[in-house]
Amino acid sequence: MSDKPKVVIRNGVSMVEGWSERIEEAQKQPTISIGGHLFDRVRYGEESEDWGADEHPCHGCRVVKGEVHVMGCDGERCPACGGQIIWCDCPFDDDEWFENVGAGVLARVGHR
Ligand SMILES: [Zn+2]
Ligand SMILES: [Zn+2]
Repeated sequence: MSDKPKVVIRNGVSMVEGWSERIEEAQKQPTISIGGHLFDRVRYGEESEDWGADEHPCHGCRVVKGEVHVMGCDGERCPACGGQIIWCDCPFDDDEWFENVGAGVLARVGHR
């Protein structure tokens, strides 16, 4: 294969080229509307479980502690129910959310 994706480094974290832009985009959307209520999204490191945010970036989307996950990351918690946001049944009001959520998004990270 000659079209191997380029790897870039962001905050000391390696990822495929273009993904750091996805992370920057995610930081512009710190809230999410669920059932008519606006919630602050759960940032990496704020989960009730300890995912090791002090030691390494998010296993799913490569953000560092204190950042908002990239949409579709399986590490992101739902601020309404505390479940995994990609699987919970909460009534998200943002259509874009549904379009972005899914395994297809994370397949592009290319680090697995
Ligand atoms: Zn993540
Ligand atoms: Zn939920």
